[in-house]
Amino acid sequence: MTVVVDRNCAALARVSGDDLQVPLVQGGTTTYANFDYAASAPALAQVTDRVQQLLPFYASVHRGAGYASRISTECYEAARGSVSRFLDAADDQVVVFTRNTTDSLNLLASCVPGDTVVLDIEHHANFLPWTRHGRRVVQAGATVEETIGRLVAELCSKPAALLAVTGASNVTGEVLPLERLATIAHQCGARILVDAAQLAPHRRISLRDTGIDYVAFSGHKLYAPFGAGVLVGRRDWLDNAEPYLAGGGAVREVTTSGAEWAPAPQRHEGGSPNVLGAAALAAACDALCEIDADTLATHEHHLADRLRAGLAAIPGVRLLRIWTDAPDTVGIVAFTLDGFVPGHVAAYLSAEHGIGVRDGRFCAHPLLARLELDGALRASIGLGTTSADIDRLVQAVATLVHTGP
Ligand code: PLP
Repeated sequence: MTVVVDRNCAALARVSGDDLQVPLVQGGTTTYANFDYAASAPALAQVTDRVQQLLPFYASVHRGAGYASRISTECYEAARGSVSRFLDAADDQVVVFTRNTTDSLNLLASCVPGDTVVLDIEHHANFLPWTRHGRRVVQAGATVEETIGRLVAELCSKPAALLAVTGASNVTGEVLPLERLATIAHQCGARILVDAAQLAPHRRISLRDTGIDYVAFSGHKLYAPFGAGVLVGRRDWLDNAEPYLAGGGAVREVTTSGAEWAPAPQRHEGGSPNVLGAAALAAACDALCEIDADTLATHEHHLADRLRAGLAAIPGVRLLRIWTDAPDTVGIVAFTLDGFVPGHVAAYLSAEHGIGVRDGRFCAHPLLARLELDGALRASIGLGTTSADIDRLVQAVATLVHTGP
């Protein structure tokens, strides 16, 4: 079973860097074991292929009559279609290309006509942008049920325009019941934004079925390169807001006395867009659409369960969780090791075992404070992860504990 699951995903999605050789402090090299997918996921083969196909047609979009410009324009606009399909977006939901999730959330924050309610467990990208627009912070409870109760109370106590929640925690991988939250937000007269930076690479999201109004994610966490992200969502707020970036491409007509702005998405895409980034992100969306959602989830549950069980069996390991009843968890495992500084453990795993994990506070300071930690370790898995990688990480942590700090 293990082998079949590993082989299925490897066959469906080949990631670059699978056989990367890295130096070891004791001499020699080893194959890199990447446990940092949550930071940035290596490009899929389909993504590098698409970029290579498009590179010869590298040209500015929308205003050029030349052949390369027309091809680039077609690819750029077709990329919106791929993102829409990936998210099963509704007809009134537009795809705006941005630089990354942070950019998308700042863009939406400039369009929201009222207060935004957020939880205290968010990545800073889904926390800080709302400050300027009446951010109301709700403390997550010990359970998802308690947390939802608190959100309902906040949304009912005073009108809010938006509920902004994470799709999957970037620290613990825990997932909230998004469809239910969308219903609750709507019943309270608010819309819902899902920060899907960590959810999109792991689970299929249907905007139509869940009723989610806005979604943001980054290409570089979805097996595409840096530099492109998306904000997808309902047109009216985007059309009514001031352009995010004023400049060429965002306008219909300019006179010396003013401008007639274009509707979304162009309204918020001023300047020459990142055509290759958009095409690469779209290629990743297309490739992920081809992978059966259940196969992906099974692959990941199998590996993440193996990792959690392996780590939990090591004396002094504490696995981190926000809730006791999260309905699902993606392949992100955060933990601490009694008596060890997280940064030292991460450095040891890299230098002596060629294993890349993350340490620190993961741009989620309020959550780490809530967990009473000033740092932790995070191992995150993706399409290139195998059972052998998991065993290697568990063994390396066990060896460190056995040897002592
Ligand atoms: N939201 C979540 C949940 C994240 O994990 C991250 C990055 O780690 C972001 C937002 C910000 O993504 P980016 O740095 O690509 O803007």
